[in-house]
Amino acid sequence: MYSGNELRDMFLKYFEAKGHTILPSASLIPKDDPTLLLTVAGMVPFKPYFQRQVEPPIPRATTAQKCVRTPDLEEVGKTARHHTYFEMLGNFSFGDYFKKEAIPWAWEYITTVLKLPVEKLWITIYPEDIEAREIWEKAGVKSDRIVGDPENFWAAGPTGPCGPCSEIYVDLGVARGCGKPGCAIGCDCDRFLEIWNLVFMQYNRDEAGVLTPLPKQNIDTGMGLERIASVMQGVETNFDTDLFRPIIDHVAALAGVKYKENAKNDLALKVVSDHVRAVSFMLSDGIRPNNEGRGYVLRRILRRAVRFAKLLGIDKPFLESAFRIIQRDYAHAYPELKENENFILSHLNLEEKNFQATLEQGTQLLQEKVRGLVEKGENVLSGTDAFYLYETYGFPVELTEEMLVEQGLSVDMVTFETAAEEHRLRAKEQSQQMRAVVESTEVVEKAKSLGATPFVGYDKVALSTRI
Ligand code: ATP
Ligand code: MG
Ligand code: MG
Ligand code: MG
Repeated sequence: MYSGNELRDMFLKYFEAKGHTILPSASLIPKDDPTLLLTVAGMVPFKPYFQRQVEPPIPRATTAQKCVRTPDLEEVGKTARHHTYFEMLGNFSFGDYFKKEAIPWAWEYITTVLKLPVEKLWITIYPEDIEAREIWEKAGVKSDRIVGDPENFWAAGPTGPCGPCSEIYVDLGVARGCGKPGCAIGCDCDRFLEIWNLVFMQYNRDEAGVLTPLPKQNIDTGMGLERIASVMQGVETNFDTDLFRPIIDHVAALAGVKYKENAKNDLALKVVSDHVRAVSFMLSDGIRPNNEGRGYVLRRILRRAVRFAKLLGIDKPFLESAFRIIQRDYAHAYPELKENENFILSHLNLEEKNFQATLEQGTQLLQEKVRGLVEKGENVLSGTDAFYLYETYGFPVELTEEMLVEQGLSVDMVTFETAAEEHRLRAKEQSQQMRAVVESTEVVEKAKSLGATPFVGYDKVALSTRI
């Protein structure tokens, strides 16, 4: 049986043998890309090459890329296949090879290297992409195993490079499905597992929506490491692979519960394990918890981990010990988990301590509010109350929302936004007043006359962020 680490290496070596350069994962913080908070796919670091803003220094690359997808956050643990943080394996062509090579390589990789049984595999294509269909058939896929899906069209935005894509699915068997009569490829249940997406960047779309073939066509593929590990290890979910079990078992032991005995505990164990892994990697790339942008995403995931751990009965700080398991299992592939240990631990411990201190009080207050609502026969918490929970107890509003949804209630987001905006304006006013006071003092006049002092902190405590 192949371990997750072996599967990562096998993929990279296979494509290296096909002329690709193995590059290390880029940081979770996208470089020079104001459009993205976090790296969400293997292609993100290569966007300038695909868009020819930068001439690609190499024609082909292969990577295992660290990714975080916040939109999948609430799927974690509910489906067998979604994480917040995961690794995407990919092979890329920068205006070099195209479909004729990418398709047979993908097929060869899964059927002869990984030896997945052909009778379990399905392919989806963009319905109009006859070329892809023909190449799949030529590679050995039976025509009734290739189905059209109009959603299989990829674009970075309304204009720019775009093109059809093609996905590889594994049929995990009827027993894993939803059991509904129409359950077939395309059903969103756990029976058909999407393992690999091949994007054929073929066109440029102009302002008028007209597609013209790109002079240099690109390939971008992405296969989830945890998903392929679940298939290769013959386990039920990504969480049962060797990439996850040690951390699940650790959290279960801390909580004094057994994994796979009770569905509610299992969900919490999966959420906590997923989130601890995500925050460990986010911190290792130098993201700091705070109240906006990626720092807020980090904080939200971390606090969610603490809350779900509490549901399991873990009241004491546990993040550091859980991080140690992640570090032990992943640091050889991602040395930043070791190199940035001090930074990671200081933030992990401080955030956990701060949030644990208020979680209980905040939850109590929320429950009182809920009782009040129920008594009045209402089901929407006011945005002012939700903002108070955020301000005073550090409850991200999404967390409040989730806790309410569990009880069939919701938050009034419009009044929440108003309260947040008023707060921002008040804070701005106060800081302006403060500045007016401070700037008028003699000390500041003196400081100004001395000039600026150079800040050396960036070089002295540089974090490793590769690429
Ligand atoms: P799904 O439909 O299952 O949500 P997707 O179509 O959103 O997946 P892609 O954007 O095509 O996924 O990403 C390429 C590959 O990355 C997927 O085929 C899958 O193997 C993996 N992947 C995507 N999202 C996740 C996730 N949240 N957790 C783990 N692996 C993922
Ligand atoms: Mg998805
Ligand atoms: Mg999909
Ligand atoms: Mg996909």
